[in-house]
Amino acid sequence: MRVVNKIVFMRRLAARWRMNNIRVALVPTMGYLHRGHLSLVRRARRAVGPRGRVVLSIFVNPTQFGPDEDLAKYPRDLPRDKKLCAQAGVDTLFVPGEREIYPAAFSTYVAEEKLSGVMEGASRPGHFRGVTTIVAKLLHIVLPETALFGAKDFQQAAIVERMARDLNWPVKIIIAPTCREPDGLALSSRNAYLTTEQRGQATILWQALQYASKAAKAAPIPSARLKADIGRLIATQSQARLDYVELFNPKTLEPVSVARAGTHMALAVFLGKTRLIDNAKLG
Ligand code: AMP
Repeated sequence: MRVVNKIVFMRRLAARWRMNNIRVALVPTMGYLHRGHLSLVRRARRAVGPRGRVVLSIFVNPTQFGPDEDLAKYPRDLPRDKKLCAQAGVDTLFVPGEREIYPAAFSTYVAEEKLSGVMEGASRPGHFRGVTTIVAKLLHIVLPETALFGAKDFQQAAIVERMARDLNWPVKIIIAPTCREPDGLALSSRNAYLTTEQRGQATILWQALQYASKAAKAAPIPSARLKADIGRLIATQSQARLDYVELFNPKTLEPVSVARAGTHMALAVFLGKTRLIDNAKLG
């Protein structure tokens, strides 16, 4: 496995692959890798085949963090990430420096303007502008034919798909299923922040999704009623505080007034200071 830090070297590799008709898949991450990230690597390998190249990028992207968020303490462990990537069959680990990605007086952003305003976008102003900007940069540096994103961040994946389509970029976006702990908690680098008590209570997100799924499967239910039920369920956990819960059409991300099988639910819950998100298709 090759580790590349400089954009110019990554570009040189990408140009060589292109010239030799080698297929390339990109898995963008912020590092502190877990099974969820590695499942994207496996999916990437399937997409490009044994002769293709799988590139995993690690960059804790400052522009997607709000001023009061966890940028400074976001977990990092590059030596461990390197080992996991090598074991998982990553060909190139791209770890660009912050100064190269955002040189002094950087002032150009890519912003999606419709899907970015709701849910995570409403709770974290500017977050998706940071995401689309870094993903745009990575796609233009690595030039993959396929890029992989996790369904865990459903809205993010939908926005990246929309950006690539709207801007006519020749990249296929694959959305891979969410990897979970045995008790249902979605794997996340941020789970490392949880105390033992909070970790126990964090399963409430998955329980909420299952509750909603069962209800919507049984019969269509007004979203307001279902949201109130979810609010009460989250409140049963002393450390949990609901940030938002939304019921929406997975194609448009527009809220629905009645939830039914096929409706999507997303929620964000604070456990102490740690903010976790999850989502699932109901029914
Ligand atoms: P992150 O490092 O958290 O920015 O995540 C990098 C990529 O991995 C994103 O496309 C995430 O959606 C994806 N990802 C994160 N957690 C999971 C998970 N539990 N299952 C599947 N994909 C995930």
